[in-house]
Parts: sequence; C-alpha cells; structure tokens
Amino acid sequence: MHVIGRYAPSPTGPMHLGNARTALLAWLHSRAQGGQHLLRIEDLDTSRVRPGAADLVRRDLTWLGLDWDSEYIQSERIDLYAAALLHLSTYPCSCSRRQIAEAVQASAGAPHGPEAVYPGTCRSLQPKTPTAALRWRVPNETICFTDHWSYTTLCQHLPSEVGDFVVRRGDGVYAYHLAVVVDDAAMGVTDVVRGADLLGSTPRQIALQRALGYLTPRYFHVPLMTDFNGERLAKRGGAPSLSNMREKGASAERLLSDLATSLGWSVPREVMARELVGVYATYLHNVDK
Ligand code: GLU
Repeated sequence: MHVIGRYAPSPTGPMHLGNARTALLAWLHSRAQGGQHLLRIEDLDTSRVRPGAADLVRRDLTWLGLDWDSEYIQSERIDLYAAALLHLSTYPCSCSRRQIAEAVQASAGAPHGPEAVYPGTCRSLQPKTPTAALRWRVPNETICFTDHWSYTTLCQHLPSEVGDFVVRRGDGVYAYHLAVVVDDAAMGVTDVVRGADLLGSTPRQIALQRALGYLTPRYFHVPLMTDFNGERLAKRGGAPSLSNMREKGASAERLLSDLATSLGWSVPREVMARELVGVYATYLHNVDK
C-alpha cells in the first residue's frame, strides 16, 4: 500500500512543543513507510485564524526539517465541502446554545459524556432562516474503530452519544468534521496521525465517510504533551512557542532530541529529523504486528 499521510494544523496561533511533537510523528510516520506527506492548513474558522500563523507553521516545520510534498489550504476548497453537503440529509437549526442546553437538561437522558448531546430539538421544526446552522441527521448506528497507536477500540452510538451535529455553521463556515473527511478522501490519505484529543471525534468522522461513500483511513492518535502540572499544552494556555525558541537561537537538533526523548526513545542529544525515521520505523515495526 502506498502511504499518504498529512499534518493538518489550524493556524490559530504559533506552534508549541506539543504541536511540534504531533507534526514530527505525522512526518515520521509518512516517511518511515516511504509515503507521501501533505500539509493541510485548516483555516475555515475565520474567527480563530490569526494572520501570519500559517506562515509561522511553515517556517517552524522547515526549521525542524519536516518537509511536505504538497500543500492544501481549506479556505480555497469550499466548493468541495458544499458539494459533499448535498449528499447528506441535513436540517436547519437556529437554536441558541442556551436553548440547546435547556433542551438537554429537560430530556430524560441528561448528558453522560463530557459533551452535551444535541437532542434533536430542530429536527421537526425546520426554521428556514438564512442564519440557521445545518445539522446532519446521524444514522442510528454504533460506530467502532480501533486506534492503531494505542490499539484500543472505541465505540459510539451516534444518536445517544453524539447527536445530530453541525456540518455548516450559521455564519456559513463548513464544520471541521465535514471538511476533514472530504479532504482526507480527496487527497487519498491512508494514515491519519493526529492528537489524542480527536479520538472521540473519529466515530462521527467515520460515519460521515460511510455516508459519503469514502474509504476510512487508519487512525493513529498520539498522546498530547503535558506540562509539569499534567495540563495539556495549549496555544491559549500560553505554552512557549517554537518560533520564539527559534528566534532566541535554540537548536532544532536539540529540540528534536528532546521531543524524541519525551516519547521514551533513546536518541543522541542532538539529532536531525531524518535520523529519527529509522528509530520510528523500528518502533512501528514493533507495535504494528
Ligand atoms: N486541525 C486540527 C487541529 O489542529 C487537526 C485535524 C486533524 O488532524 O484531523 O487540531
């Protein structure tokens, strides 16, 4: 199988060490298998995009020696998402967050997961306002998948654990779940290496793939980096940025060594990204049996 992998950052701020580790693993995964590696800038949510952030990501990746074969920018691909949406059974929903929260409270099955499940309030109301979001009528199915990084299997019953979710927001922005599924299929992505925070989003993305007649890639959800307090590094939490370290004269080889060490790999104190390909390949060989 010819592997096609990708790194898909949202340009909402400068990359931190956690982003860099995910980017490194995604790149190593593609390269260790002689595959292609893509960069996809996920800039659909214009309210969160920061000017110049995509350029910084490109510079940071280049500094680390993580190259890519092609680049895609989601804001240039809106027509694809619009076309995919036509194949889905959706309905408009103008409920505010508050109305939804009240409906969740009132419904017998109060939320049992970390995420409030939309109870389908608008399913039959169909208010046709221009600012209504579009929700996908999820199939009454349980979707299971096995994560190839942790070898755990996650199952979700879509109606009770996810609910009809937004595929196009009221302001016209296509939702991440739809765009990511359309793009991974259009780009022929075979292996998705991404942060473990997206593990719980995968069953709904697989459901979209099935509804749209796409193949499901293999998923590798890699652990997120945490700080000394065990809190996950976040752009919003003020985690030190890679660009800052670069500007202060940090060594990319040293940083790569630190990232590899944080994964429990034994590597020299300074190492180039391409020298880690072999290390990763051994690891992949060991875990992928
Ligand atoms: N853009 C997403 C993020 O930065 C990643 C999406 C994905 O890898 O599927 O968290």
